[in-house]
Amino acid sequence: MSSFKTLDDLGDVTGKVALVRVDLNLPMKDGSVTDDTRIRAAVPTIVDLTEKGAKVLLLAHFGRPKGERVSTMSLSMVVGAVEKVLGKEVMFVPEIAGPVVEQSVGILRAGDVAILENTRFWKGEEKNDPELAKAIAANADFYVNDAFSAAHRAHATTEGLAKLLPAYAGRSMETELTALDKALGNPVKPVAAVVGGAKVSSKLDVLKHLVTQVDHLIIGGGMANTFLAAKGVDVGKSLCEHDLTGTANEILAAADSSGCTVHLPYDVVVSKEFAANPPSLRTCNVHEVAADEMILDAGPAATEALGDVLKTCRTLVWNGPLGAFEMVPFDAATVALAKTAAALTIEGTLVSVAGGGDTVAALNHAGVAKDFSYISTAGGAFLEWMEGKELPGVAALLV
Ligand code: ADP
Ligand code: MG
Repeated sequence: MSSFKTLDDLGDVTGKVALVRVDLNLPMKDGSVTDDTRIRAAVPTIVDLTEKGAKVLLLAHFGRPKGERVSTMSLSMVVGAVEKVLGKEVMFVPEIAGPVVEQSVGILRAGDVAILENTRFWKGEEKNDPELAKAIAANADFYVNDAFSAAHRAHATTEGLAKLLPAYAGRSMETELTALDKALGNPVKPVAAVVGGAKVSSKLDVLKHLVTQVDHLIIGGGMANTFLAAKGVDVGKSLCEHDLTGTANEILAAADSSGCTVHLPYDVVVSKEFAANPPSLRTCNVHEVAADEMILDAGPAATEALGDVLKTCRTLVWNGPLGAFEMVPFDAATVALAKTAAALTIEGTLVSVAGGGDTVAALNHAGVAKDFSYISTAGGAFLEWMEGKELPGVAALLV
């Protein structure tokens, strides 16, 4: 990884104005914040800067207002929640550039915090309009990006500003980039990747990239069915993208020529209906799935073998559950493999990094999220990183 500047590289910033891009796209219900995880993620950066005496202007987007002022998407709604987490008063500024921001900066004292309005109220944000970026930058001395989750977008406040002002990675960004670098950028080998979830089509680029990067690719979930079908297995009524079996074979061939071992389940848990603890539940060899059955999880023998694979590895990157984990007992393989990964991480033999909305939910369900080396909550940005893409918001920070 090329290097980037962090808050440790800041000189004296007393009274200086920091534009800090954070993720405040918070889950809301009836006008109040239901989960403050993203606010807490921004706290180390905000506290570091306020303790250094900077005036902190938080920049963030909320929802998809598409370049219009939409009152139900104003960031004024989150001020109370941010104040509660920070334990101090936070000013709200209903603009992101111009004289209103300039006057507010004049009122703020060293160490104060303000939230600027939803950046997506301005059309120039998503267009990465240099004029908008210039107008925002005019009121500040330096820029900090602490929103990895928005770094896959080249927008004015995620990319444009980094080119106009001295730019630094915030603490969450720094932690995320360091963890991701250990997982795929510069990992200790052997490396295993688990890719599961519903569909091959949603993760084609992830699979194509990973086969060139990792020693073991464990394919699970619905996408394993497409690979099994490609190998001539009759998967019955299982979720399966039959039109992608050709692509699956190409991926298997690419893995072969890169020396990547692909692991598919050889026993599976099946049922005739998509329900919790269905009466037709049974475990069988992949070659014994009946025409009216669905594969909903990897079987116990396969899961144990996958655990043995992890025991030979030093690094794990995981996206996507191995089964339909929302329903018992189809969470069994995911929970068991997650527990193995967690135990190896605690023992110190494995660096484990996981990401993805359902993956994080599944690891929480298994009770092991806290034991993984790093859990990314970045969603789209995490997947693009797993695809090997350069993230514009990260690239703009590199020196
Ligand atoms: P993430 O959000 O972590 O990227 P995905 O959204 O790709 O993960 O996949 C999660 C979904 O995949 C879950 O809703 C899960 O029920 C589903 N899934 C996993 N295995 C199967 C299967 N065998 N059949 C149907 N759905 C599955
Ligand atoms: Mg999902």
